Amino acid sequence: AIPEASTIWFNGALVPWHEAQVHVLTHGLHYGTGVLEGTRVFPTPGGPAVFRLPEHLRRLERSARMLRIPLPHSVAELTGATLELVRANGHQSCYVRHFAFLGYGSMGLDMRHSPTDTVIASWEWPDYLGGRALRLMTSSWRRNDPNAVPPAAKGTGPYLNSALARREATDAGYDEALLLASDGSVSECSSENVFAVRDGVLRTPPASAGALEGITQDTVLTLARDLGVPVRVENLLRSDLYAADEVFVCGTAAGVVPVASLDGRELPSEEGELTKRLAELYRAATTGGEPRYRRWLTPVHSS
Ligand code: PMP
Repeated sequence: AIPEASTIWFNGALVPWHEAQVHVLTHGLHYGTGVLEGTRVFPTPGGPAVFRLPEHLRRLERSARMLRIPLPHSVAELTGATLELVRANGHQSCYVRHFAFLGYGSMGLDMRHSPTDTVIASWEWPDYLGGRALRLMTSSWRRNDPNAVPPAAKGTGPYLNSALARREATDAGYDEALLLASDGSVSECSSENVFAVRDGVLRTPPASAGALEGITQDTVLTLARDLGVPVRVENLLRSDLYAADEVFVCGTAAGVVPVASLDGRELPSEEGELTKRLAELYRAATTGGEPRYRRWLTPVHSS
């Protein structure tokens, strides 16, 4: 069940949680014509703060442009609305879902005659993946091909690809799915980017392998560079993960989560040394414990 909050921002106004409703003939419900973002608010010594809000809202704008969803609100408006919503809901820590989709107006695939509905919702959502080392399974489903549906855009419809992979993995008793691109290279998990560590070098697949340009991925790359760890954004094979010293996944909802095994092949430890250091630094960066990363935090209550 979703832990209810009191209000949802819906097309410019705060409305009570259960009144944020749409018609059953909403275009986006039928054809997946929508874009979304997932962002987190963390508790910091200066009060709750949104982590990398400008980056998330700019990605929403890029996704909308790629998928031809007109966005009626600017990044500046959505920034103000996000802070207003989190204040109204009284969260100290929460997940924030921004989304915009083609609403009620016409049926059929012509996208030009349905207005965009824009929503921001927030709720308390700890430990999306359960907070322990993951058992991954390589999915039989390939990641959306960039020339079928661009995985660079965080669109709602394309998540059927992730949902199928996740369902296959959980049906088989695993925690999460690893998806390969059409050419067989490693892409990402159903809603996290993936990293491998071998001989002290940190590697993660690029957007050209169908991986989302993850904001947590970018954060982890920055933290690793700042620690002096060599990083490479390059194509990986599944065998690169089997043979790694450490594997972890990361995303806004999940955080930085170690991988214990892939396709039944155990990694050398449940949580590697570098994974542990990066997870700790990520926690410090998100909760205001590291002054050099405070630039990533937008306070919810203006000082
Ligand atoms: N890949 C996919 C498919 C995702 O849905 C997500 C979650 N948004 C990620 C990666 C991680 O992205 P981020 O770190 O920006 O949350």
